[in-house]
Amino acid sequence: MQEESKSGCCCASSSGQHDSDGAEKRLGWHEYFMCVAHLISRRATCTRGHVGAVIVRDNNILSTGYNGAPSGLPHCNETNCKIYRSIHPDGTVEENCVNTIHAEINAIAQAAKHGVSIKDADIYITASPCIHCLKVLINVGIKTIYYDKPYKIEHIAELLRLSGIRLVQVNAVNC
Ligand SMILES: [Zn+2]
Ligand SMILES: [Zn+2]
Repeated sequence: MQEESKSGCCCASSSGQHDSDGAEKRLGWHEYFMCVAHLISRRATCTRGHVGAVIVRDNNILSTGYNGAPSGLPHCNETNCKIYRSIHPDGTVEENCVNTIHAEINAIAQAAKHGVSIKDADIYITASPCIHCLKVLINVGIKTIYYDKPYKIEHIAELLRLSGIRLVQVNAVNC
């Protein structure tokens, strides 16, 4: 498991942050893509939580996704979440919504639909991936996962270590 952390804030220039010499501070690439992921999360419809994802290669956005119901089907904010419980091997009980597709999977689906290769790309996600999404991210050839908020990271630690996929925290405090 490789876990790193990128410090620094996001979207600072939009709020007028300046360097000590008074020059306007330019947004870095990591903060830029994480801010995009946060913006995308605002399209999410599952009332249990809003997550956004952006797949990137060579500083170009290849695909995006947010969590919600499949196209054309009722969304959780129009009906209700349908919650199911499952038990993780460590004994903890998880609750998930059966209506929704996770943001990472929707970003992969969008790339597949349009024939965009995402091999050797990176992904920016507003929350660290669940174990199910992580398995798919490994198989589509994602190199580095950048996340903002940790989500049950202890459940993916072993898979991270065995797979060698990188997990890096990017804090986007002002998005
Ligand atoms: Zn839901
Ligand atoms: Zn997931």
